[in-house]
Amino acid sequence: MSSTEEKIVEVEIATAEDVDKAVKAARAAFNNPTWHDLIPEDRAKLLNKLADLVEANVDELFTLQAWDVGKPFKTSRDFEGGHLIGTLRYFAGWADKIQGRTIPVSKDKFGYTLKQPVGVCGGISPWNYPLTNSGWKLGPALATGNCIILKPSEYAPLATLYLANLAREAGYPPGVVQVLNGYGKQAGQALTEHMDVDKIAFTGSTTTGRLVIKSAAVNMKKTSIEAGGKSAFIVFDDADLDQAAKWAIAGGLGNSGQICSANSRILVQEGVQEKFVKIFADIAKATKLGQQFDEATQQGPQASKMQYDKVLGYIDSANKDGAKLVIGGHPHKGAGGKGFFIQPTVFTGVTRDMKIFQEEVFGPVIAVTTFKTEDEAVSLANDSAFGLAAMVFTENLKTAHRTASKLQTGMVWINESNNTDYKLPFGGFKQSGLGRDCGESALEEYLEEKTVHVNLGLKL
Ligand code: NAD
Repeated sequence: MSSTEEKIVEVEIATAEDVDKAVKAARAAFNNPTWHDLIPEDRAKLLNKLADLVEANVDELFTLQAWDVGKPFKTSRDFEGGHLIGTLRYFAGWADKIQGRTIPVSKDKFGYTLKQPVGVCGGISPWNYPLTNSGWKLGPALATGNCIILKPSEYAPLATLYLANLAREAGYPPGVVQVLNGYGKQAGQALTEHMDVDKIAFTGSTTTGRLVIKSAAVNMKKTSIEAGGKSAFIVFDDADLDQAAKWAIAGGLGNSGQICSANSRILVQEGVQEKFVKIFADIAKATKLGQQFDEATQQGPQASKMQYDKVLGYIDSANKDGAKLVIGGHPHKGAGGKGFFIQPTVFTGVTRDMKIFQEEVFGPVIAVTTFKTEDEAVSLANDSAFGLAAMVFTENLKTAHRTASKLQTGMVWINESNNTDYKLPFGGFKQSGLGRDCGESALEEYLEEKTVHVNLGLKL
């Protein structure tokens, strides 16, 4: 447990052989009429039943997740719990609305398309939002009639196992929903390179995402990748600075900064830089760090010793590169001097060439850079290998929408940050990924489109 550094429990890890057994069970379930021929309304009923069970077991699920990764229990149960239940119900609503198209071609011919499930899917997820990520994969996969094997992160094995039990209780036939815990290089890789897996939905780092694409190429699996980010939060000088600071705290330091779309870079127009940084730093400094089950806790520990060391390494590099440390910059001692806590940290004077401007820190570390003009703000924001999200704060509608259209990111939040909604597509440009989670777009990731050509009278 990352807040106390104590071992909680031991978990079985899957080998390549276990993966093969799971894939065979998934294939058998996919071909079985009990699942394959289930009418869409009944697929919706099952997914709604699963949502009901998640609602009834929300305390248990989020207690396990808090043990897994040290997230403050109350906040994550209330927000992520509602989000998970909503995601499953949202996709249940799509189950009987999967439609192909009819396409007129000529007087002798017309064509139509059928949308059909891909087949056996693998869902590989990271440790920062284990349950949310499982829901983002289960919802569209099951609504469209696929079978899915989830492989949660080795750092967060417990909560998703509980979710698998709920799927069984909901009445999914054996093999339709499976969970395999295990290491990425072993179970994860076996799943991505398995010849009888038709699709991989991966969420994790950009580095692993590249490996997944390579392994999945073995049988040209359909692949969706949700990877890392370095999202820029642009504060124009006409912005509501109080609101900007509060949203930047939520979207940058929430979940101990371990958010893929965290606004880890803040770009502030020079006239308001001093005022904005003061408001932001004052709120950040007052953040209460603590144990995940203490209701007063606003920030928990980093999820693992590895992450803790990595984040401290980035703080060190920012200091060496000449950024100015405004607050934080040090570990925070938890109860009994234990736990992987790091103080909320803000650097100003950050330039494009610095590591904390370019690389994903995945911790409570914010890099502030000043800009003069809108063009410069856009150029700074786009100066990144990532393209997941950006945020724009301004009271001017024209500035907001003009800037949003120029940012090379899959998502732009105007006057808010990281207020994710399962009804809207989630995903990135550039090295932040391929494809989309959430919203109607996610359905396409789990469907094949079959074209049927119909000859209405053409003779040879
Ligand atoms: P990671 O890439 O180390 O691991 C992610 C998953 O991939 C884990 O389940 C791991 O076991 C598995 N894995 C590792 N090596 C593998 C391999 N060779 N083949 C197949 N699977 C393998 O990422 P992490 O440290 O768990 O998570 C943090 C990262 O996730 C950050 O970069 C963050 O930005 C990203 N993330 C992205 C999104 C998004 O939607 N874009 C959401 C959450 C997290």
